[in-house]
Amino acid sequence: MSYFKVKIKKTDSLFSLYIRNRDKWKCRYCGKDYSDNRKMLHNSHYWGRNKEGTRYEPDNCMALCFYHHEQLGHGDLRDKYKEMMIEWLGQKRFDSLEIQANSYCKKDDKFMEIKLKELLKEQENGES
Ligand SMILES: [Zn+2]
Repeated sequence: MSYFKVKIKKTDSLFSLYIRNRDKWKCRYCGKDYSDNRKMLHNSHYWGRNKEGTRYEPDNCMALCFYHHEQLGHGDLRDKYKEMMIEWLGQKRFDSLEIQANSYCKKDDKFMEIKLKELLKEQENGES
């Protein structure tokens, strides 16, 4: 699968931190708290990272533990993942997300890095 060949960039790490923070360091599937074991919690993309249009879209992502990331993203629970997404976003947003995923989007790492750092700062301030 091409999914694994997409290089992880600094912006991906920042975005991953943002999503896992947003989801309170818990797997959205099993609910297990990973705040003491952060590396085992992943930022899962419903539409893979190779789709630039949804690569940094919070609606496209949820925190999932290592095990459920495998199962939902690439394994037996793929249909369940779709169900979870529709339940979370609603059918309308789920459909527009698919269009977004398949739309052309210019890569601009510098801009995205600045934007993500701002988002993380906002998140930090909101939590305190
Ligand atoms: Zn899990």
